[in-house]
Amino acid sequence: MNRISILALAIIMAACAQDRTEPQPVEDAELLIPIPEGEGDDVAPLASPDEIEFAIQSPVLDAMRVFAPPHAPFTVIDNIHHVGGASVSAYLITTDEGHFLIDGILPQSPPMILENIAALGYEVADVRYLLNSHAHIDHAGGLAALQQASDAAMVASEKDAPILEAGAIDFGPTPTMPFPPVRVDQIIQDGDQLTLGDTTLTAVVMPGHSPGCTSWLMDVTDEDGNPHRAFFNCSTSLGGQRIAPESYPGMVDDYRASFERVRSIDADVFLAFHSSMFGMLDRHERLLAGEELAFVEAGALQRFNDASEAQFNAALSRQQEEQGG
Ligand SMILES: [Zn+2]
Repeated sequence: MNRISILALAIIMAACAQDRTEPQPVEDAELLIPIPEGEGDDVAPLASPDEIEFAIQSPVLDAMRVFAPPHAPFTVIDNIHHVGGASVSAYLITTDEGHFLIDGILPQSPPMILENIAALGYEVADVRYLLNSHAHIDHAGGLAALQQASDAAMVASEKDAPILEAGAIDFGPTPTMPFPPVRVDQIIQDGDQLTLGDTTLTAVVMPGHSPGCTSWLMDVTDEDGNPHRAFFNCSTSLGGQRIAPESYPGMVDDYRASFERVRSIDADVFLAFHSSMFGMLDRHERLLAGEELAFVEAGALQRFNDASEAQFNAALSRQQEEQGG
């Protein structure tokens, strides 16, 4: 199996650090994007039904096996539901006017995701927007099947859209792992908003981990009526990628800007797409034990961001030394 990918896994899984909170309000975005009429060819995946079925039935690649374990679905807070696995997350955000679904995990994951959505009492046919944190196989691999199952509009950042439509990325942690390609219906820019019912998601494009890595911000309310803000953090981990030399031009500057960007985010519900990054399993246990606000922690996002930045800087120095020596 691919050496780089195994290294990537090791690095992706690592996340820890100390406390820090000095959040500032996120800038407001005004653009409201109309929902496309999700009909006909416009929302069909680029992969054929046979290709999608083949991908679902294929054995999970050795290097990806750690990302495959399933998990029971649960409500994180308010209308945010975790419908992903024990290691890699997918989120269903429900409203009276249709749902958002973020990420497809591996090509083999859609049956689990669809089961989880149904177990919570929701219909995949009501998913209106399909979103993607970033175009790597462990987050985008299942999108084509979910697009086929839902007819939802696939929304992606400008830089990750071509990767989704190719079903392949020729650099980064998973260069040798193609996935069923997805047709992108809508391009979003940083600050763009998507609204369904009374829920609005704001895109925070944070390039680095992938060229168009996209986080999302939304407001939620707990059972006592207190407001919180949730942040779905795309990723600022290196994931085993080369930054000296850069895996793509401008990568180091992108990472630095994204660490800064996260510092401007005021969110007390920190969610991510690898369970180890935000202590999903432990928080879920606490939730089950009756701790209603198990996923609320004011300092968690900035703590993760600082740790991520420290790892990035250490890796950059190391790689620059290797390069020079
Ligand atoms: Zn990734």
